[in-house]
Amino acid sequence: MFTMLTAAELSARLRSEGYRVTSQRLGVYEALASSGAHLTPERVLERVREQHPSMSLNTVYEVLETLTRLGVIRRADVSAGPRRYDANVAPHHHLVCRSCGMQEDVPCDDVDGSCLQPPASDGFEVEEAQVAFLGLCSDCRDPATLR
Ligand SMILES: [Zn+2]
Ligand SMILES: [Zn+2]
Repeated sequence: MFTMLTAAELSARLRSEGYRVTSQRLGVYEALASSGAHLTPERVLERVREQHPSMSLNTVYEVLETLTRLGVIRRADVSAGPRRYDANVAPHHHLVCRSCGMQEDVPCDDVDGSCLQPPASDGFEVEEAQVAFLGLCSDCRDPATLR
C-alpha cells in the first residue's frame, strides 16, 4: 500500500539532503501524491495551480526532477510515451492502457524487487527496471465509449 509523505516528513527529507523547503516543492509533491495516479508534468501543473496559480510548467519540471533525485517520487514513463511521475517508490509493476494511457499499480510479489535484477552485461549501467503489462483498461474496452 502506498502512503504519501506528510508535509513534515517531506520537509525533513529535503533538509536532510541539503535542499531548501519551499511551498512549490511541497505543493508539487502533494499534487502528484494525492492524485494516486501517474501524472505527466502538465497534469501536475493543472492540479498544483489550484493552490499556486502562478506556478510555471518549467518550475513543475524542475521540482519533479528534484523530488526524483531525492527518491520520494520516480519516473514511470512507458517506452516512448510521455514523461510521467509516480509517488509510489516501493517496488511494483504497472498495468498500462494503450488507448488512454491510464497507468495503475499492481503489486510485485517479490517485495525486494529481486525479480528485476538485470543480468550482468558489459559496461551497461542499469538505472532502474520496470514491468508494464500493456492492454486496454475497462473504460476503453467498453463499446459504449468506443468512437
Ligand atoms: Zn484506457
Ligand atoms: Zn506506480
